[in-house]
Amino acid sequence: MVGAVQAVLFLWAKMAHKDWGPRDTESELTRLKSITDKALLQNVEKRYRAGNIYTRSGRIVLAVNPYKKLPLYTEETLQAYKASLAPQVELPPHVYAVASSAHSGMLRTSTSQSVIISGESGAGKTETAKILLEYLAEVSCSGSDLHTRVLKTNPIMESFGCAKTIWNNNSSRFGKFLTLQFSPTGRMQGAFMKTYLLEKSRITSQLANEQNYHVFYTVAKGLSPSQRAELQLPKGSDAVEAFKLLNLRKASDVDWSELPCDFAELSAAFAVIPSLAGCQLSVWKVIMAVLYLGNLDFAGKGAVGDSTVADAKIADPSTTAVIARLLSIQPTELENAICIQNINAGGEWIKSPNSIAYASDALYSKLFDWVVEMINSSLISGEGGRYFIGAVDIFGFECFPTNSLEQLCINFANERMQHMFTEAVFESVIAEYQKEGIDVADITFEDNTPLLELIDKPATGILSLLAEECFFPNGTDASFAQKIKLAHARHPCFAEVKLDRTAFTLSHFPGKVTYQSAGFLEKNKDPLPQDLVVLMRFSDDDFVKTLFEEKKGAGVIDSFRVSLNELVKTLSATKTHFIRCVKPNMDKKAMSWDEDVMQRQLRTSGVVQAVKAVQATRKGFPDILPFAELLSRFEQVVPKAAIGKAGAEGVRALLKGAEVPETDYRVGKTKVFLGVGVLDRLEQRRMEYI
Ligand code: ADP
Ligand code: MG
Repeated sequence: MVGAVQAVLFLWAKMAHKDWGPRDTESELTRLKSITDKALLQNVEKRYRAGNIYTRSGRIVLAVNPYKKLPLYTEETLQAYKASLAPQVELPPHVYAVASSAHSGMLRTSTSQSVIISGESGAGKTETAKILLEYLAEVSCSGSDLHTRVLKTNPIMESFGCAKTIWNNNSSRFGKFLTLQFSPTGRMQGAFMKTYLLEKSRITSQLANEQNYHVFYTVAKGLSPSQRAELQLPKGSDAVEAFKLLNLRKASDVDWSELPCDFAELSAAFAVIPSLAGCQLSVWKVIMAVLYLGNLDFAGKGAVGDSTVADAKIADPSTTAVIARLLSIQPTELENAICIQNINAGGEWIKSPNSIAYASDALYSKLFDWVVEMINSSLISGEGGRYFIGAVDIFGFECFPTNSLEQLCINFANERMQHMFTEAVFESVIAEYQKEGIDVADITFEDNTPLLELIDKPATGILSLLAEECFFPNGTDASFAQKIKLAHARHPCFAEVKLDRTAFTLSHFPGKVTYQSAGFLEKNKDPLPQDLVVLMRFSDDDFVKTLFEEKKGAGVIDSFRVSLNELVKTLSATKTHFIRCVKPNMDKKAMSWDEDVMQRQLRTSGVVQAVKAVQATRKGFPDILPFAELLSRFEQVVPKAAIGKAGAEGVRALLKGAEVPETDYRVGKTKVFLGVGVLDRLEQRRMEYI
C-alpha cells in the first residue's frame, strides 16, 4: 500500500516537472513567445509526435486524435490526477485534468460544472467523453452498481446511435448531453442523458462506403439459433448481406472487429440496465422487423416511383408475414398501411404510395428514444443529486457539397456553443484583470451574435420563417426561400446564390455554408405515417404498443430550438470547461500530420483567436502566478528577501532581490503578472541553485 502511494507520488512529481513532452514545447499555448499560427501549430505538432496529444490554451484543452492506443489512461495516471488537488502544482493537460478540476471545483465552489467537447466528425469527441466519464466514475462511485451501469451505457448508445461513415468508423449520429448527478460530498448518485436529432435518413439510405447503425449488424449476425427460433425468423435470417438496409455486397464488407461491441457484449450491457434487462428479445424483434421492412418491394402499379396510388401490392407476401409476426399485427393490415398511406405532415394529410421508408424510420427512431428513456429511468437518481457535471458531445460544424435542414440545425448548435465559448474565454480574462485591480483596456472580440439573430430571432429569424411556412397550406420550399431573402438580403451574414433561387449562403464562424432549401419544409414536418401508428397501437405486443404511445410533437426545428435553449440555459448556470478535439489528418491514420487540415481546425475552433486575444489583453504580461506559487517556487532564488514576508510584500521583495525591473511586472491583489521572459529568467536562476 505504502509502495503504491509512493509510486503515485513519484509519478506525480515526475509529471508535474517534466510534462511528458519534449522540453522545448509549451504545454500552455498562451505562454508561447511567438503566437503566429505556425508557431502554435509547430508546438502542438512536436508535442503530438512525442505522444503528448493534449495542450492547454487558457480555458481550452486541445486534444489531437492519436488514432492509436497511447499509454495515457493508466490507473497510475488517473491516480496522479486524482491526487493533484494541491493547486500550486499543475499537471500536464489531460482530459483527466479537466475532469478532476470539474469535480474538485464543484465541491470547492458548490457550483455545477459542464464540459463542452467540440470538434469535427472523427476528431475524438466521443472517445474524450468516455475518458471523462471513466475518470469521474472511478473517483466518485468506484465499485458500485452505478459505476457498472453508467459505463455500460456506452456500448449501448454507440450501437444504437453510431455508424461507420467516410470520416469516422464509429461516428455518432446524434447529439448528446450527459448529466452526472453528485451528492454534496462528491459521490456520483445517478445520471441521465438528453439526445438531439438522431440522423433518421441513415436508416433507409447510406452513401456507398457508409453503413447503417451498428446495432443492425450486431443483431442480424449475433442472434443465437434458439433466439431465431423463438422469433420465428425464416431460414437465412443470419445472412447479413441479404438485408438491403445493411448496404453490403458480402458479409465480409463489415469490419466486425471495429463495431463497438459484439452481440454478447451488447446483451451483457442490456442485462445490467434494469429497465432494459427484461426487454432484450422485444428489442431484437423490432430491429429485425425494420430489417425485413427494408427488404419489401412493391409489385405492379404503385411500385416505387410510380405515382399511381391504386393497386399497389407487395411483391413478396412472405416477407410481409414475417414482419407482421415480429410486430404482432395483421399482415393484410400491414400491407394496406404501407401500400396506400395517409401521412400526417405537420397537420396536413397526404397520400403516399410507398411509405416503407417512413415506416422503418418511425420504428427505429421510436426504438432509439425508448432505449434512451429506459437507460435514464434506470440511472437517474431519485434524490435528484445536489450538483451535476454535464458533458456535451455534439456533432461538429458541417459543410457538405449539399447542405440541408440537418446541417442548419447542427451548425446553429455549434454557433451557440461557440458563443458560450467566446463569452467564457473573454469574460474570464477580463474578470481576472479586474479582480486583481489591473486596468482593462477596451477589449473587443469576434462576436457571432448577428448570425445567431439571423437564424433564431423570434418572428423574423430563418427558423421562425420556416416554422411559419410549414403552417401555410400552400407554403413551399421556394416560397420559404423567397421570404428569407426578402427579410434578410441586406444582413451581413446572409447572401443569395446566383442562378439558384432556392439556395442561400450563411457566413458561419468557421466559414461560409450554402444551404439548399429544397426539402426543408417536409423535413421540418417530419411526416409520421398515421395508419402505421394506429396499426402499431393495436399490436398484440405490449412492447410495440409502448413504442407508439402518443407523445406531443412539434416541428423538428421548434423542438430542437426548445431543447437547445434549455441546454444553453443549463450550461450557463454552470462553470464551463472546454475541450476542443482535432484530427491530424483526414485519413483516420496514426502519426500522420496534415498541416492544412490542422490549420483549418485550429482556426475554426477559435483557439488561435483566443490565444491571441489572451495575449493581447495581457499586454506583455503573459505569466500570471498566485503570490504563494511565486514565493514557494523561487524561495531558493532569493532566500533572504522573502523571509518573514508574505503576499504582495513578499512578492515585491523577491522580485527586487532577483533584480527584476519594476516595469516588468504588475502586482495585483492575489496574483502577480510577469512580463515576457521574466519567468524564464527566474527559472534559470532557480536551476542554478538546485
Ligand atoms: P467524434 O466523436 O469526434 O466523431 P470519435 O471519438 O468517435 O470521434 O473518434 C474517432 C476514432 O478516433 C475513435 O474511434 C478512435 O479510433 C480514435 N480516437 C479518438 N480519440 C482517441 C484517443 N484519445 N485515443 C485513441 N484513439 C482515439
Ligand atoms: Mg462522436
